[in-house]
Formats: sequence, structure tokens, C-alpha cells
Amino acid sequence: VDDDGVLDRLLAADRAAAAELVAALAGDLDRMIQASAGTNADDEHDPEGATIAFERAQLASLLAAAQQRLADLDRAIGRSAHGSYGRCQACGRPIPADRLRARPAAATCLDCAATRGR
Ligand SMILES: [Zn+2]
Repeated sequence: VDDDGVLDRLLAADRAAAAELVAALAGDLDRMIQASAGTNADDEHDPEGATIAFERAQLASLLAAAQQRLADLDRAIGRSAHGSYGRCQACGRPIPADRLRARPAAATCLDCAATRGR
């Protein structure tokens, strides 16, 4: 990759943003669990409880996605440290810089990503 410095900064910035999001969502989820503790919020027959359970499930899935993204970025940063960053993990070809700029955590080229369905 020609502009390593730029991509390293992109990775670091993305990682910081992802870590912040994980912390914020985990905090929200914690507060939601605290707030519903001691009430019958888990009662699916209670309309309000069902809403809270739904919101909690949504928050939990947002948190899981953010954690996944953080893990992807950590792996990308690890590859960068080993000098394998920017190389497709499936076919070994260089990942186009445009793709890396759009998705700094990308571990595969577009062809392989399409083959794998992601
Ligand atoms: Zn590939």
C-alpha cells in the first residue's frame, strides 16, 4: 500500500471511535439493566416490559456489532504491525487502497469478500 501513514491514522481513528461506541453502548445497556432491575420489566405480558426487553435486545445487538468492529480493527492493526496489512487474507493479493480507505478493517479484497458473501 502506497500511503501506509494515512491508513494507519485511519485505522487508529476508527479504532478509537469504535472503542468509544462500545463503551457508550455498554454503559447504556448497564443503565437499562439497572433501571429495570427490581421491576417486572422482563414480563413479556407487560406491554411496557416487552418494549424494554425489545430495546434492550436492540442495544445488545448494537453493542455486539460494535465489539465485532472493534475486534476487526484490532486484527487490522495487528496485521499492520506484522506488515501483512493491505493484503487479502484469502488470496494474498493486495487490497486496493480505495477499499482500505472506505473500510480500513477490510481483511479481504472485494472478490474474496463477494465469494464469502460479506
Ligand atoms: Zn482476495
